Amino acid sequence: MPRASLQVKFGVSYLAVIVAVLVLMNTYPLTASEDLVFRSKETTMKSSVSVMTTALTGLAELNEENVANALTVTEEAGVSRILVTDDAGRVLYDSRETDSALGRYAFYNEIVQALRGNDVFSVAYTGGAFQSRCASPVIYRSQTIGAVYAYEFDIEQATILRNLQSTLLRISGAVLVAVALISLLLSRVLTRRFGILAGAIRQMREGDYGGCASVGGHDEIAEIAAEFNSLADRLQSTEEVRRRFVADASHELKTPLSGIRLLTDSILQTESMDSATVREFVGDIAQESERLTRITENLLRLTRLDSGAVEAAEPVAVAPVVERAIHMLRLVAQERGVELSETVEREGVVLATADEAHQIVYNLAENGIKYNHPGGFVHITLTGDDDTVLLTVEDDGIGIPAGDLPRIFDRFYRVDKMRSRAFGGTGLGLSIVSDTVRCRGGTVEASARAGGGSVFTVRLPRARGGGEP
Ligand code: ADP
Repeated sequence: MPRASLQVKFGVSYLAVIVAVLVLMNTYPLTASEDLVFRSKETTMKSSVSVMTTALTGLAELNEENVANALTVTEEAGVSRILVTDDAGRVLYDSRETDSALGRYAFYNEIVQALRGNDVFSVAYTGGAFQSRCASPVIYRSQTIGAVYAYEFDIEQATILRNLQSTLLRISGAVLVAVALISLLLSRVLTRRFGILAGAIRQMREGDYGGCASVGGHDEIAEIAAEFNSLADRLQSTEEVRRRFVADASHELKTPLSGIRLLTDSILQTESMDSATVREFVGDIAQESERLTRITENLLRLTRLDSGAVEAAEPVAVAPVVERAIHMLRLVAQERGVELSETVEREGVVLATADEAHQIVYNLAENGIKYNHPGGFVHITLTGDDDTVLLTVEDDGIGIPAGDLPRIFDRFYRVDKMRSRAFGGTGLGLSIVSDTVRCRGGTVEASARAGGGSVFTVRLPRARGGGEP
């Protein structure tokens, strides 16, 4: 229904405007030309009557003879009929020969008015003609001795006006039909294009993000469709990422669970298993469950970051965080024969939570140790400028192949699955680092270190005031 109503609204408003324009077009020019004719009639009639009265000026009294004599010298300037009466209203002269009023009394309103000393003019457009009447008194020594009356019945100008009227009406009719057709066509096209858009939206609502609203043209609807298509593309890729994440997460959780299952089955099914083997198996079970805990903790952390429920930030001094991470990792580093060191060139305070700062430093330093050789090193440098705190974690370990660098921050992405697993990796550490840094307005990048190994560079906005030494 809303589609139909849009079509109707569009068509009706379009037609209403056109009808208003046509009504104006059919009235204004006609009344204006009518007015013009009225004015020109007034001028010609008055001048005709005035020519007559001037010709009669000087006569002491009017009679048929002297009026006829006086009027032979004048021309009747295209007026239909002229009457001259004496002061009693008796017709002394009639320009019309057939059915002449000569000798009769003519008490036309205009003549009565003229005999009272007034100049009178009236015009009307009736019966398909302009009928104009004009009368003036004939005065001798301040006495009204008679009246001149002129009458005109003009069909010619009235016909021109009528023709104009009917031409305008015909044009209006044609315009109206054309406009109605165009508006119908346009509203059809419009609603059809909206229909395509609505269809694509419906398709998306039903979970199909692959649909595309193909609306041609370069207007606003095409613009909306293009925006919609790019939104659908984004949703589709987000949906893909989500599906892949769920699949990867289930897979990662399934691996330790199957390990635990296998170990417990072995213990349960082997009747006389010696206690050393049982201990070894239980130890493995503990390791696997620890791994499960780590994965779920990391997943929870990422879900929190995804949901945008950011904890309130506070100024955190980074140097103590670096020291604490080094302290916690010293033993592991020693076991692997990796030297762990730090340089604080410029102390930095960032806005985050203490736990987030710890996660960033700890994960990067731990990776530097994990993916290293005995005899290698991991060096953390804290520096920066007035706006940025710069943390670099550098190692001369196994390095990251250039082809893997762009995907290194993806969830569950690992260059060497076996190696990562062997060191208890979950494939989520760098995702947590990158999401956390991004959520606090910073950036992180990984690159190959000249001379072997990798460098991770974290940039975070420096917190203003408070905490700077
Ligand atoms: P994991 O838990 O597997 O360490 P991460 O997300 O922390 O997961 O790292 C993802 C992958 O990136 C690792 O599996 C590893 O292949 C690679 N990687 C991370 N840091 C380093 C590093 N310093 N040197 C070499 N490879 C690294």
